Amino acid sequence: MIGAGAASLLAFASAAAAQSGPDLLIRHATVVDVAGGRAIADQAVAVEGDTIRAVGPDRTLSGKFKRARQVDARGKFVMPGLWDMHVHFGGGPELTEENRALLPLYVANGVTTVRDAAADLAPLVLDMRAAVAERRLLGPTIFTSGPKLEGYKPLWKGTIEVGTPAEVDAALDRLQAMKVDFVKITDNTLKPDIFLYAVGEAKRRGLKTSAHTPYALTIRKAVDAGLSSIEHVDYLIKAGSPREAEIGAAFAAGQITYGEASDAFTDSFDATYAAGVYRQLARGGVSVTPTLNMGRILAYLDREDHSKDAGLSYIGPGLRKTYDWRVERAAKATPQQVAERHKEYELSVRVLPMLVKAGIPIMAGTDAGYLNSFNYPGWGLHDELDRYVEAGLTPQQALTTATITGPRFLGRAGRYGSVSAGKAADLLILDANPLRSIKATRAINAVVLHGRLLDRAALDAMLTEAKRKAGR
Ligand SMILES: [Zn+2]
Repeated sequence: MIGAGAASLLAFASAAAAQSGPDLLIRHATVVDVAGGRAIADQAVAVEGDTIRAVGPDRTLSGKFKRARQVDARGKFVMPGLWDMHVHFGGGPELTEENRALLPLYVANGVTTVRDAAADLAPLVLDMRAAVAERRLLGPTIFTSGPKLEGYKPLWKGTIEVGTPAEVDAALDRLQAMKVDFVKITDNTLKPDIFLYAVGEAKRRGLKTSAHTPYALTIRKAVDAGLSSIEHVDYLIKAGSPREAEIGAAFAAGQITYGEASDAFTDSFDATYAAGVYRQLARGGVSVTPTLNMGRILAYLDREDHSKDAGLSYIGPGLRKTYDWRVERAAKATPQQVAERHKEYELSVRVLPMLVKAGIPIMAGTDAGYLNSFNYPGWGLHDELDRYVEAGLTPQQALTTATITGPRFLGRAGRYGSVSAGKAADLLILDANPLRSIKATRAINAVVLHGRLLDRAALDAMLTEAKRKAGR
C-alpha cells in the first residue's frame, strides 16, 4: 500500500510511533486563542502522544514536565494546525504516487487536516486516510467523501451514478460501508429531484452532505432539504439573485446554456435581496466553502502568467499536465466572457463578508489537487486566507475558517479548534502573530503533527524531497 518512494516518510512515521510519555514541552510561547481573538503570553504547552496534555503559564507547567523534550518558543506564537476543507486527489490510477506525494506539501505548510471532496481516486484516499490515522504514513489527517454521487454518464470519473431513489439508497449503503466522513453530490447530470432525495436521505441517516447544487433548484430549496455545505461562492451569487428561480428554470428547459445562466445570476445579483436570503440560509444551518482563491486564479488566467510559479516545482509532471484543461478552456474565452469572469470574481469578494455578517460558517478550502491549475497544495490555503482578509474579514475571522468551522462541520469540535488540554496536538509554531497579520501563518517555525515536532529543518527536508520526486 505504501510505495517504495514513500520509504523515507514511512521511517519518519515509525520513529514518531516509537515515542511515548509526556514527550514535548513547548515553553514560553504566546498561545493564539482563535475563538477569543486573544494572544496569551508566556505559556507552556505539554504534549503527550498525539494529544495536548496541559496548557498554562510557563512557570507553573515547566516544573511538572521536566523529562519532556523542551522547545523554546520565546517570541513565537502557537496556534492550532490549519484545515483545508476542500482538496482533491485525482487524475487516474497512474497518478497514484504523485497524489500521495502531495501529503508532505500540506504538512510542510502547516495544513494538518484536509477534507477530500471526491475525485477519481477514492480507494487511494481511503487507504491514505487509514495509513495516516494509524501513523504508518506521514500526512495530514484526512476526511473524505469517498466517491461522489452524480447522475448517469457525468463528465467526472469515479463517481457513483444514481438516477432513482433506490439507486441513491444503494449508493448511500455503499458509502456507509466505506465509513465516509460526509457525502459529496455534484450536479453535472444529476436530476434535481434525485439531488433533493439524496440530500434528504443522507440527512435521515445522519450523514453530512456537500454539494454543487443543480441550477434548476434554488439554493434555499437545497438547504431546506438538509444540505450541510455549499462548495464555491458562485452558488451564493446565484442565491443572491432575485431572478434565481426563473433563470434556473430557463436553464432546465434548455433555453439558455450553463454559462449564460451563470452570467445571468451575476448580472441580476441584488445585495439587499441577497442579505435576506443569506440570513435564511444561516438559519438553515448550511456552511460554505468559498474556494475564493481558485475563483481568482481562473478569472485572471488571461492576464497572469503562472509558468514561473515556485509551487510548480513541487507538482509531479502528470498532475501538472492536468492543469492544461482549465488553461485551454480559459484560452478559448471571448473578451466578453473574460470580462464576465472578472466581474463574477469581484462580486464574490463582495459576497464573502455578507455571508459572514449573516452568520453562515465559512470553511477555508482551496480546491487544490488536480485540474485546478496553479492552486498549490498547502500554499493554496494561505493564499485563500489572504483573499478573505482582502475581502474584508479580520485575521481572526480568517483563522476561524481554517481552524474552528471545519472541525465543527465534521463533528470534531471536541478534539480540534484550540490549543487546550485534551485537544489534538496538531499545532503551528509561528514567528509572528497571525491575529495581527494573516501573513504570519506562512512564517512557520515548526509544525507539530499528531504530537510529533517537525522543526524548520525537517519541513525544509520534506520540501526538498518533494521537489526531487516531482523531477525538478
Ligand atoms: Zn472541488
